[in-house]
Amino acid sequence: MVKAQMNEFSLINHYFQSISPHRPDVIFGIGDDAACLSIPQGSELLVSSDTLVADVHFCQSWDAYAIARKAVAVNVSDIAAMAGTPTWLTLALTLPDYDESWLQRFSQGLQDSLHQYDIALIGGDTTRGPLSMTLTIHGLVPKGQALRRSGAKPGDHIYVSGELGAAALAVQASVHGPNELDMNILLKALKFPTARVDLRDYLNTYATAAIDISDGLSADLNHICVASQVGACLDAQSIPIHPLVAHYLGEAAVDFALSGGDDYELCFTVASEHETVLLSSLLKAGLTVYRIGVIQAETGLRIKGLDEVVRPLRATGYQHF
Ligand code: ADP
Ligand code: MG
Repeated sequence: MVKAQMNEFSLINHYFQSISPHRPDVIFGIGDDAACLSIPQGSELLVSSDTLVADVHFCQSWDAYAIARKAVAVNVSDIAAMAGTPTWLTLALTLPDYDESWLQRFSQGLQDSLHQYDIALIGGDTTRGPLSMTLTIHGLVPKGQALRRSGAKPGDHIYVSGELGAAALAVQASVHGPNELDMNILLKALKFPTARVDLRDYLNTYATAAIDISDGLSADLNHICVASQVGACLDAQSIPIHPLVAHYLGEAAVDFALSGGDDYELCFTVASEHETVLLSSLLKAGLTVYRIGVIQAETGLRIKGLDEVVRPLRATGYQHF
């Protein structure tokens, strides 16, 4: 399409209108003043927004394909944490200019992510300004089964769904100087996180609380503790640290993995009587989770160090203000 002919409407039409998988619950999507959706009986609607701002959440210089993939994943991750199924997405996109090759790459990334998670893009807004985007993800959950931050009970065990710290190490690469091969692995973790929708049925059945790790494990676990009015004790030895984080940070790796952020793994709690059956069903499905500590009645975070001594743990993580 020739640049001079592209206005806002043809841009939407060309790059966003027909990139979604077909979903029968979309009565109509892009093209009207609002989308119309069908919520199945027995389901409840989950809604969550995330904004990504250039040079805060991603680098303006990144391939737009990666920007789109990351934008969808961080939004879907919030639905995964609620043990829901992602269904519909809106995209409010602010672009500094009309850049055909950027839009092509962005649209391709968006399309691949929409198909990965079976989500329909049902609308949005397109404006000119500094590069940023706000996505609103919708999801479905069986009535009364949305998993919240507030359900953790003393004695529950704390789990995390994957290795931590790689994305944060990619951001701080200039300090730690990984070689090029390692840097590519770290950048992949930063740019292409996977939202853990694969854990939905297990969380739904067995978890008492969950959160996705966007700010850093200690900060996000603290949200569970505050919402549940409990405390937690982690075991430093059990924290799954990404091997490259362990390699480049040595003794500082545990603290780094606890506060790094941008992991988009899930942290969740499970009553101990459900543990055996949960772990055996996860094993059958080929899924690995890590038990990292226990919920306690005493509020606050603690960590048992490699020396077996329990110390207070500060809930540090990324904060915008
Ligand atoms: P309005 O004037 O009502 O704000 P727009 O002209 O902004 O509508 O958008 C026209 C249609 O295109 C609407 O259905 C809107 O939801 C959709 N849309 C606009 N921008 C985007 C986008 N970036 N991604 C997906 N859909 C979009
Ligand atoms: Mg509009």
